[in-house]
Amino acid sequence: MVGWDSRAVHAGREDLAGLGVHALPLDLSTTAPLTTVAEGGDAYELLATGGVPGPGQSTVYQRLWNPTVARFEAGVSTLEGAAESVSFATGMAALTAVLLAAVAGGKPHVVAVRPLYGGSDHVLATGLLGTRVTFVGPGGVRAALRPDTGLVLAETPANPDMRLLDIKALVAEADGVPVMIDNTFATPVLQRPLELGAALVLHSATKFLGGHGDAMGGVVATDPEWASRLRQVRAITGGLLTPWPAYLLHRGLATLPVRVRAQQDAAHKVAMALAGHEAVTRVLYPGLAECDPMGLVGTQMLGPGSLLSFEVETAELAEAIPAHVELATHAVSLGGIDTLIQHPAGLTHRPVAAEAKPHATMLRVSIGLEDPDDIIADLVRAVEAAAAAG
Ligand SMILES: *Cc1c(COP(=O)(O)O)cnc(C)c1O
Repeated sequence: MVGWDSRAVHAGREDLAGLGVHALPLDLSTTAPLTTVAEGGDAYELLATGGVPGPGQSTVYQRLWNPTVARFEAGVSTLEGAAESVSFATGMAALTAVLLAAVAGGKPHVVAVRPLYGGSDHVLATGLLGTRVTFVGPGGVRAALRPDTGLVLAETPANPDMRLLDIKALVAEADGVPVMIDNTFATPVLQRPLELGAALVLHSATKFLGGHGDAMGGVVATDPEWASRLRQVRAITGGLLTPWPAYLLHRGLATLPVRVRAQQDAAHKVAMALAGHEAVTRVLYPGLAECDPMGLVGTQMLGPGSLLSFEVETAELAEAIPAHVELATHAVSLGGIDTLIQHPAGLTHRPVAAEAKPHATMLRVSIGLEDPDDIIADLVRAVEAAAAAG
């Protein structure tokens, strides 16, 4: 077995030389040729119920199967150490499919550990998909379990306060109920939840996996049984990942380890610089000892990642800072090549109920690949300019 960086470069490309090509092929076909009606019908039946096409079998229709999309999924499976992966149009479409599969399986109750990404919190709080949610804090999972609990959902590091969870302990607490970890922030470069007992791993591939801010996607890495259920939901509801973004997301996988490590190195420097600044009241970054009380960085997680949040004295100051960045961009999203800053309470976590909303004094920064000194200078200048104006 080769190292993880080698796997990232070659994952999902194992058959390319045999095909006589070197770069990833992009197949845009919306439909596929059929032989007889009977054979086509068999293929349709297989794919619409979550199956995988056999060699030489027609793939029928892009909503049921696409080779470029399947290649990206194979790449993600390699990196997460999963048997299979199923991709979707966005991270939210991926979460939707998992929730619909849980509901269809007769287990509509979800235990969700807050904080979560604002959109995930929102879809659960609305009950739109037929789920019933109990929101808990870390350690509250066991007491919230019911006979109809179909899923436990958690993030670590969590969006946006970077709270870390012990995945093995969470799996034990869930007492056999499947645990899904949203691994968007950590990426498989830093953390592989399936190895720790999670049943499902969710990614907003829009973020680090693609890494360039130009393609949306979501993916779930899991076992063959869940994968089949998710493919069935995808075939029926149509929230599929299409080939163009699948191609871009797959291309992103090759550089994922180097990007994650370079961005992490920079984030560590930025966190230290902000922590030493008088206008910053608190820095939330898993690489700071006070943010990692259980010692999970270096054990569960190879490193602290490249997302950090910081707090300032007042909400007014926090809201004023993003207007003053010049190198960074004031924008939601994260995990791309450039530094982004945003105000979670006002933006990404806007739909979250008041009792669970992030502090209005908090800003979240996704550190990019710029020179760390330039990022620090930009953020410090923005903080000082906002403070001087206020
Ligand atoms: C962005 C994000 C999502 C949602 O993904 P989309 O691709 O935007 O639908 C889910 N979880 C986390 C942690 C995210 O950052």
